Amino acid sequence: MLDLRSRLCCKLRVLAPRCGSGGIVMDEFRVCPNCGYARGFHASFRKEKEGMRVIFICPECGSSYDIGLLESRVSELEPRRGESY
Ligand SMILES: [Zn+2]
Repeated sequence: MLDLRSRLCCKLRVLAPRCGSGGIVMDEFRVCPNCGYARGFHASFRKEKEGMRVIFICPECGSSYDIGLLESRVSELEPRRGESY
């Protein structure tokens, strides 16, 4: 579990990824702003009129995020099962 300082640091990196403060610069949405989990997100797809909205869900705390990604090339929500790894 992250301490409060780590949580705030991760949150700042997400909110101001190009601040140039000399710390680690993150040009990606990978750290959960709510809990600081830093290993990425699960994804879900929500059908909307214009396409599929991609929603990112933190596997640690369950917070969900919409970063404005709308995919118009997915036509249906009937997945075909692939290989298991
Ligand atoms: Zn989280």
